[in-house]
Amino acid sequence: MIIAIDGPAAAGKGTLSRRIAEEYGFHHLDTGLTYRATAKALLDAGLPLDDEAVAEAMARKVDLAGLDRTVLSRHEIGEAASKIAVMPSVRRALVEAQRGFSHRKPGTVLDGRDIGTVVCPDAPVKIYVTASAEVRAKRRHDEIVAAGGSADYTAIFEDVKRRDERDMGRADSPLRPAEDAHLLDTSEMSIEAAFQTAKSIIDASLSRNA
Ligand code: C5P
Repeated sequence: MIIAIDGPAAAGKGTLSRRIAEEYGFHHLDTGLTYRATAKALLDAGLPLDDEAVAEAMARKVDLAGLDRTVLSRHEIGEAASKIAVMPSVRRALVEAQRGFSHRKPGTVLDGRDIGTVVCPDAPVKIYVTASAEVRAKRRHDEIVAAGGSADYTAIFEDVKRRDERDMGRADSPLRPAEDAHLLDTSEMSIEAAFQTAKSIIDASLSRNA
């Protein structure tokens, strides 16, 4: 059983995917962390972000067991990740590892940008989670403030839009809903409501496949 969750930056995919994985006892992989880990390794080694062969070699060394969300969540790492994510050979290397993960028993939840379209096109459940850019920027802003940081809403909003453009506009595996994905717009939904909606989609599919 594979549950594919896609959507733009800060749509709430991560929180939703973790809850789903917990609910069903499935393994969870936030595939954004694999792009972030590759980017961080390049930054740490002082290597350029625009050399595809170097980036691919780094991508092949990423250990899925060692992905630390807290360390990788830094803003500059996300920016760097979306730059190397346009490189086809980096994507190929990471997609291979992600597909390997997707077959773990008893089931998996993968979240990212291209899970339903490229990584696991045969996943029986695909959910495309979205929210308006304003709502996503506001959520990110409030998260930072709640964690004691200071945040500038306008800068975050511009950032969310820039990241959307890069993710949706790239030639290889652009962000878009798979044709058979359920669309879940969380702009006016609480996390709990989004989770309940996702759960009813998954339960319907589980009973069809039982
Ligand atoms: O989701 P997150 O912000 O952690 O992802 C960081 C970047 O990695 C994204 O902006 C996107 O460019 C890239 N990414 C991707 N495909 C995925 C997951 C993330 O291209 N499946």
